[in-house]
Amino acid sequence: MCVKSAVKYVYLFEEGSKDMRDLLGGKGAGLAEMKNLGLNVPPGFTISTAACIDFLDNRDFPEGMWEQAIEHLNKIEEETGKKFGDKKNPLLVSVRSGAAISMPGMMDTILNVGLNDETVKGLWESTDNERFAYDSYRRLIQMFGVVVLGIPYSDFDSAMTQIKKKHRKREDVDLTADEMREVIEEYKLVYRKNKQKFPQEPIEQLRLSVKAVFDSWNSERAKTYREIHKIPEDLGTAVSVVSMIFGNMGNDSATGVAFTRDPNTGNKMLFAEYLPNAQGEDVVAGIRTPKHIDDMKKSLPDAYSDLIKSAEVLEKHYKDMQDIEFTIEKGVFYLLQTRSGKRTARAAVKVAVDMVKEKLISREEALTRITPQTLDLLLHPQIKRKDDEVPAGTGLAASPGAAVGSIVFTSEKAVELTKQGKRIILVRPETTADDVRGMAVSEGFLTQKGGMTSHAAVVARAMGKPAVVGAEAITVDIREECVTIGDEVLREGDIITVDGTSGNFYLKKMEVEVPGIEQQTNELLEWADEVRKLGVRANANTPEEAKLARENGAEGIGLARTERMFLGTDRIPIMRAMIMSLTESERRFYLNQLLPMQISDFTEFFRTMEGYPVIIRLLDPPLHEFLPDKEEVMREIFDIKFKLSAAKEVRELDRLVNRLEELNKMLRTIKNLEEFNPMLGFRGCRLGLSYPEIYEMQVTAIIKAASRVIREGKKIYPEIMIPLVGHKNELSKLRERLETVAEKALDEQEIEYKFGTMIEIPRACVTADQIAETADFFSFGTNDLTQMTFGYSRDDAEGKFMAKYLEEGVLQNDPFTTVDRNGVGELMKMAVQKGRKTNRKLEIGICGEQGGDPETIEFCHEIGLDYVSASPFRIPVARLAAARAAIIPEKELQD
Ligand code: PEP
Ligand code: MG
Repeated sequence: MCVKSAVKYVYLFEEGSKDMRDLLGGKGAGLAEMKNLGLNVPPGFTISTAACIDFLDNRDFPEGMWEQAIEHLNKIEEETGKKFGDKKNPLLVSVRSGAAISMPGMMDTILNVGLNDETVKGLWESTDNERFAYDSYRRLIQMFGVVVLGIPYSDFDSAMTQIKKKHRKREDVDLTADEMREVIEEYKLVYRKNKQKFPQEPIEQLRLSVKAVFDSWNSERAKTYREIHKIPEDLGTAVSVVSMIFGNMGNDSATGVAFTRDPNTGNKMLFAEYLPNAQGEDVVAGIRTPKHIDDMKKSLPDAYSDLIKSAEVLEKHYKDMQDIEFTIEKGVFYLLQTRSGKRTARAAVKVAVDMVKEKLISREEALTRITPQTLDLLLHPQIKRKDDEVPAGTGLAASPGAAVGSIVFTSEKAVELTKQGKRIILVRPETTADDVRGMAVSEGFLTQKGGMTSHAAVVARAMGKPAVVGAEAITVDIREECVTIGDEVLREGDIITVDGTSGNFYLKKMEVEVPGIEQQTNELLEWADEVRKLGVRANANTPEEAKLARENGAEGIGLARTERMFLGTDRIPIMRAMIMSLTESERRFYLNQLLPMQISDFTEFFRTMEGYPVIIRLLDPPLHEFLPDKEEVMREIFDIKFKLSAAKEVRELDRLVNRLEELNKMLRTIKNLEEFNPMLGFRGCRLGLSYPEIYEMQVTAIIKAASRVIREGKKIYPEIMIPLVGHKNELSKLRERLETVAEKALDEQEIEYKFGTMIEIPRACVTADQIAETADFFSFGTNDLTQMTFGYSRDDAEGKFMAKYLEEGVLQNDPFTTVDRNGVGELMKMAVQKGRKTNRKLEIGICGEQGGDPETIEFCHEIGLDYVSASPFRIPVARLAAARAAIIPEKELQD
């Protein structure tokens, strides 16, 4: 009797569509969409994720689900003309997992369900292929044992090895039908040894298989994958029951995987591999090395042409690169899956840019498809090319980038050693889903077996880590924990370099470098520039950094920290002498020596940033930071006193006495400047107001450098920034004084310059309306603002409690990396509103470290800042993040 349930849990492929991913999973929705497009998909149905969630909660199928599944099974029987459990012409099905978000290889699939001691004979008869029938049956027994009953895979593997040894056969495919029957008997003994029984009843096989696939949602490896990829726990998996298509029915049958474009480079070409006379997961598992698709063009031309056509249809329809699984049974081509193909960062950018040119997608769509994290990966290191460097070997270039590290052979070891701070390269015969945790912590991978679509290759590309796979010249011995390459034997801890861009590997540490930006990336970034509202400037302290920032597309300098310019060996002695001066005139004497140096620094900045604003911040840190460490000085004093007692020569005595005097003076100065809380102490504008001559020298240098560059015919926009202002009078008094200095330095030249301030003290935010009375611009110093708002030391928090806070969920993000929206962010909002109320034209930006972080950039866009300023390396990412903030609705970005 058929019990009707009010809830529909089971859908024929014809009933679904690509928009039903949440309910039918990616695989189910893809199969349905392909069916609707008229492509050749085997008959089947999908049990929904809702049924899975219910099952996992109640440990039983929801009411009516099983009856609906049987009803749909009958429909497949009608469509195929076969019967499930029939002794003459049995219907066989695969039971496949598939969640709404792709988790490749993480959950289970069982093939050939429906075979037993009787139906196997029917399969033999109906296909006239005895060996094939028994091979299919032993595969089911093995897969069912491992997946449904949890029997160790190695038990089946040893049974197979034993039979192959007995009959002196190398490969599984060399075994005859009779020998396969022997394998089946051995497999049944494996069941017995594990106190299990293989169910002969096909319906029971199906029921237990569906349950097992539901349960695989909660397998350790699936949970780990979700944890790494931040996939919600409550989605559940759908189960697709698909009538079996056999790729292992002889040489006119095959199974394969195809990407509609090259997932490594993004080039527009079919990127496919196949295995003739093979079934199901053989390609993905990397057990046999697959053949190039060009061979299929010759051996199976009709199926090849169907593959090409289907790939075209699917890519045009989905408007994205597809990853397709197909099977050919006796020359007939079937599609078993389509999904958006995982790709390297480089390929992602190329595919998106090319698809805009092919008019498949818009520029904005291309920008939403490339995340800042993806772009970041593109700026990853590559091996420094040396023509005479011969690699130790070459495999397939599965995932680009270069990685250097110590060899480990197991995931457990990889996790353990990375906790000790080691950089690891995971070396395996091939990887499986169980290796994901180890892969997540490794720098890169090297495998002996597997193709471009093997597990290691797919996972590496998804994780953005370098990988060389299928390096057949190496032999990896997991038991002995060693890898042999010719005469060379390497063990755990030995250093290697893998180059996933070329496929080469080296048995030593190679030099790596960060590559420049490629043309397609530049194109994407130019589109980003057209849509973004936020300006992107750079934090740069040297002319070299400014140059790199320009090359990366910065539109000015948001912060030049002048204190970093005093650290050269020619400058530090003058700086120290200036700090230890006892009178203003003595101090001015040394400042006059620093003046030409500063003029030359600023000149270079202005020249590099011609046509763009340059914000130069006046001296900020406490002065004692420029003096040597107190303990070092005391140690030297002690040494000199010791040497003095032994010195005999007058010249030597004089030298020691002079040095001792100098050191004692330095020690007195250090002690004078010593503070209990230097971060809250004598720095920034407090220093500027106490020793005005320092800022006067800097402003003179800025104006003189600007005059010089203007005389060269260049347009420049200097902006002078006062740090650590918390009270409006700090800024107004300094501005008044420094403007007089600037006017004097102008030398009758017209220069447009601005005076502004860092906003990095909570009081400055609260009184921003008053401060804005004398400021032309604000720049949020979110390093200090975070420090002072939270009361966390910016130099100590990370090393002390921050990791614990993040682990325990006290904080969701490190506020020194991503601006804390609710606290610091509210203060920023207040400062923007109050500041602009007083001064409508107030230019506002951010120059704290968070300014290069995509989430912070999104926030800055929301609160209406004019620009963000980031380190030169982060400029491309900032440009993209700013564009995405302008085109993707706020809520979606935060999700
Ligand atoms: C800041 O405080 O955010 C800032 C940019 O200044 P500094 O890091 O130099 O203190
Ligand atoms: Mg600061």
